[in-house]
Amino acid sequence: MSNESPSHFIGQIITEDLKRGKNDGRVNTRFPPEPNGYLHIGHAKSICLNFGLAKEFGGWCNLRFDDTNPIKEEQEYIDSIIEDVRWLGFDWQDRLFYASDYFDQLYQWAVELIKKGKAYVCDLTADQVRETRGTLTQPGTESPYRNRSIEENLDLFGRMRAGEFPYGARTLRAKIDMAAGNLNLRDPVMYRILKASHHRTGDQWCIYPMYDWAHGQSDSIEGITHSICTLEFEDHRPLYDWYIEQLGVHHPQQIEFARLNLTYTVMSKRKLLQLVKENQVSGWDDPRMPTLSGLRRRGYTPEAIRDFAERVGVAKRASTVDIAFLEHCLREDLNKRAPRCMAVLKPLKVVIENYPEGQVEELEAVNNPEDPSAGTRKVPFSRTIYIERDDFMEDPPPKFFRLAPGQEVRLRWGFFIKCEGVVRDEKGEVVALRCTYDPASRGGNSPDGRKVKATLHWVSAEPAIDAEVRLYDHLFTKENPDDVEEGEDWKAGINPNSLQVLTGCKLEPSLRDLPAGSRVQFERLGYFCVDKDSTPGKLVFNRTVTLKDEWARVVKRG
Ligand code: ATP
Ligand code: MG
Repeated sequence: MSNESPSHFIGQIITEDLKRGKNDGRVNTRFPPEPNGYLHIGHAKSICLNFGLAKEFGGWCNLRFDDTNPIKEEQEYIDSIIEDVRWLGFDWQDRLFYASDYFDQLYQWAVELIKKGKAYVCDLTADQVRETRGTLTQPGTESPYRNRSIEENLDLFGRMRAGEFPYGARTLRAKIDMAAGNLNLRDPVMYRILKASHHRTGDQWCIYPMYDWAHGQSDSIEGITHSICTLEFEDHRPLYDWYIEQLGVHHPQQIEFARLNLTYTVMSKRKLLQLVKENQVSGWDDPRMPTLSGLRRRGYTPEAIRDFAERVGVAKRASTVDIAFLEHCLREDLNKRAPRCMAVLKPLKVVIENYPEGQVEELEAVNNPEDPSAGTRKVPFSRTIYIERDDFMEDPPPKFFRLAPGQEVRLRWGFFIKCEGVVRDEKGEVVALRCTYDPASRGGNSPDGRKVKATLHWVSAEPAIDAEVRLYDHLFTKENPDDVEEGEDWKAGINPNSLQVLTGCKLEPSLRDLPAGSRVQFERLGYFCVDKDSTPGKLVFNRTVTLKDEWARVVKRG
């Protein structure tokens, strides 16, 4: 398959490769997470790119866990990653792999390099290895163990594997060049001793391959043609190439692109883990987290995330995307398909004094003006209703068009109502409004051409559902939370007001049996999603995003 107008530079490289008949026309990619945390929106970009290219060029994409560090890796992370990639909408069919599947092969290859005089067992400690590595301006110094005989190396490496030496006592290092300009080529460690149980291989191994030794060979074993990774691996490419060339095996082509950064967001797994461990958030799936499980719980759709990943593009230069753009993509999607309904978050009681007591009538409401096929529903109307407390002012400024004493407004899908007075409690606070309605304005139409300047959402008290609603703001107050002064804690940038919990919210009764994960628009308030904390008696909603599109505003302003 060919593509005449690839959308970005990686597509162009692949198109050229195919024209030249490289890899017999195959395009095979992989998404290679380390199972040491949950996936985040940055990973989504990589997933969409790798699976997207395979699809675009008629190839396939593997899911492979680069599980070389048993100390930091857990089954929980594997399970969540599998769930998240599926949820995003991608299918690896029967090609789910683990670097640990290749531990035997990697060991054999390490032995091969020893036999070629290209690897040696080194007795320096981790600190000593670091200290003798040199700097960007100074060459490293050679290990005193560098010139061990092949026989001795084979013997020691075999005994490392057999568990004869304690943790950290010895490593296997590639014998490349301690004076190389690229520090990655200064005799990098290939194996270290770790007396740790691995989630898949159990206690079978007590030496584990370093990521840099496992990664490139794993790609080679799987026949990956285009090994796509983020920019920080550019400096590792010469090392990956070196291993592949020494072994003379299939050589995947590594292509680097810039990772996704988002404003007001930290994306490093290390930092996200810290937020979870220190209970700064309720877990990996806290709706404020940039993790896919957090975004899903917040109400994000896989379609919106895929659309975002495509529209931010793929570049060679690092940049930061405005989080308002992610929200914009989400709004575009939800606008098309989220059913509209009415909810009042901070209720103020309104008694319609000329409406018959005990009467309930049903009004017709449109479910989604963007989608006629969504149809209509009935909303009850009665003598007592709730409106939003913020939609009333007793003493309004000149341009306040919502409800105020003597002022008339339209109730969405309902009637015109006029405020005749207020009811106060003993402290003098307004606890209810006394209103009248115009029966001739049913459906919200003006009976005589008289104009009202505001339309309010509302919920009839009879019958209404009570709910808890959680409102969110960015988890960080700083646009770039990673940018901290020396000695300053990045967590100082955490927004203390990122979560606001509202109880006693009132919802229209059509929402009664909504299952967790359902997404709706509460008119005028935003898009909301039913949270997994909901119980049969109590609905809990997360606000996914408000209706105000900051991105559209920014773009308009230019
Ligand atoms: P982190 O630095 O956040 O811990 P990572 O790179 O260590 O992430 P991996 O599990 O190794 O996490 O990532 C799997 C793949 O996802 C890699 O190919 C990596 O390049 C890619 N990836 C990780 N973060 C981003 C990002 N922010 N944007 C695009 N791709 C990313
Ligand atoms: Mg990584």
